[in-house]
Amino acid sequence: METIVGKQKHFVHESSYVDENVQIGEGTKIWHFSHVQSGAKIGKNCSIGQNVNIGNNVIIGNNVKIQNNVSIYEGVILEDYVFCGPSMVFTNILNPRSEYPQRGSEFYKKTLIKRGASLGANSTIICGNMIGKCAFIGAGAVITKDIPDYALVVGNPAKIIGWMCACGKKLSLSDDRDSDEAAKCDKCGRNYEKKGLKVKEV
Ligand SMILES: [Zn+2]
Repeated sequence: METIVGKQKHFVHESSYVDENVQIGEGTKIWHFSHVQSGAKIGKNCSIGQNVNIGNNVIIGNNVKIQNNVSIYEGVILEDYVFCGPSMVFTNILNPRSEYPQRGSEFYKKTLIKRGASLGANSTIICGNMIGKCAFIGAGAVITKDIPDYALVVGNPAKIIGWMCACGKKLSLSDDRDSDEAAKCDKCGRNYEKKGLKVKEV
């Protein structure tokens, strides 16, 4: 089914459900067996794979890619160009109990994924944490704290093992918490400065 809402044009496969009061930007495609819940806002040119759930009031920027089998729960914000690998996991309650349910936005922790970050296949982002700009979360990693911009992290609990260029190439910067260093991406030529655990493009 192709729908035109005002001037916007997007695609929703006939096997998917989009609830009332949802915004979907032009050029966005929603593939098989997915569900977009009420109040969700999805930007332009996103690709939303098979068996994806987008919860109430979730905010998704432009050019975001969500691979198969991902649930984006209320409280999660994805900025532009975020990549969610297949079967990666978000949460939105820190200490769930079946017998003592916590439902409603006052219980949901905010999880912010900044522009250009990649979340690897089967990784888990514990709610209430922030993933920095262009950070790279390795497959299967478990995130238990905020991750700085451009950091490459792996493992459970995830640890910084290096730094990634915006273009996806590993930078020649160390994981030393205290060093000041500089590096140039040998793929795209961007320059970076590292001060402690802060990396920025210069
Ligand atoms: Zn680069």
